[in-house]
Amino acid sequence: MPNQPAFSRIPLINLQQQHAPLHDEILRAWQTILHSTQFVNATEVASFEVAFSNACETQHCIAVSNGTDALILALHALGVQAGDRIAVPANSFIATAEAVSLVGAIPVFIDVNQYTRNICSTSLETALSKGTIKGVIAVHLYGHPAEILALKQLTSTYDIWLLEDCAQAHLARYQGVPVGSFGDIAAFSFYPTKNLGSTGEGGAVTTNSDVLADKVRLLRNHGQQVANRHECVGYNARLGELEAAALRIKLRYLPAWNVARRRVAELYTARLDNNPDIQLPVVEDWAEPVWHLYVIQVSNRDRIRELLADVGVATGVHYPVPIHLQSAYHELGYQAGMLPIAEKSASEVISLPMFPELSETDVDFVCDSLERSIRKAKKESQC
Ligand SMILES: *Cc1c(COP(=O)(O)O)cnc(C)c1O
Repeated sequence: MPNQPAFSRIPLINLQQQHAPLHDEILRAWQTILHSTQFVNATEVASFEVAFSNACETQHCIAVSNGTDALILALHALGVQAGDRIAVPANSFIATAEAVSLVGAIPVFIDVNQYTRNICSTSLETALSKGTIKGVIAVHLYGHPAEILALKQLTSTYDIWLLEDCAQAHLARYQGVPVGSFGDIAAFSFYPTKNLGSTGEGGAVTTNSDVLADKVRLLRNHGQQVANRHECVGYNARLGELEAAALRIKLRYLPAWNVARRRVAELYTARLDNNPDIQLPVVEDWAEPVWHLYVIQVSNRDRIRELLADVGVATGVHYPVPIHLQSAYHELGYQAGMLPIAEKSASEVISLPMFPELSETDVDFVCDSLERSIRKAKKESQC
């Protein structure tokens, strides 16, 4: 990875520290599975699904192989057809758009809000007014809920569906209600670095619709409810029992981890709040974010990251190229300048180290180093 120190005094994320207290519990669960040889379609997946749907306050949870498959299965269940145009924020992980393309539909990229960098409801409304869009994917990016009620209002006005991409926002709340329970259907990822991370791959679909839940369950397992009776052409998108067991155990710790992340975010914000050279993350008054990432915006971004790397502070960029300008989407004909907020954000954002166990001393060191790097980069650019 470019710009990463060979040895990070402070890493972007630290899973060893998170897993250490859980080793024995996870190993015991894995031993039981190993003895039983029930590696798929058994009790661990079923009990994780019950626990996760309770946590998300939804009727249904269907555990699947990963977050991208969760999006793909959700899109199929919604009845997306080849050639359908689907609104997607320009600032997200590529998978949000890939899922649309992989079901044969066409992503329509929408600019983002300059403070939360989530899909902008005003830009979305302009796109919807043309009358050709069949559905909307809202991403709760960085753990901060999108303006979901405004989006829901829009999708119901235009009588189209709303899919929530919650891959970065497990248990984040909008006006006290968990994300993943607002749209017609929602997709989660349990990629190891997410707020709830698997010991391999993993994902889930949540919904309050019995019909959509049944469709996703069929699609997950080759279109069969009964062995060897295939009602539709499906996928193998199952979650394994070993992963489900670890997820079930880790889910119990998730609320406390999210609280610890919020504490880290509050420490950062308190320390950096009066620095005019840094745009800090905004928390909307209806939002309880879960701080998957702590994303700031600065000019001289690349130089500042280099200087931070020199003193052992790892940083990330989420995301350096907005999706509409990725080579993968060259053929759709987007050009630089079309979605200016997403583009500016892509050139200026930095993700600071963020994980529940990050200490106050380390936050201080990151902030000191950041402020020093900003001053130095500013001086360099003036001569
Ligand atoms: C991680 C992520 C995904 C994809 O999840 P995988 O489990 O890696 O397939 C989708 N959308 C967003 C916003 C993500 O951050």
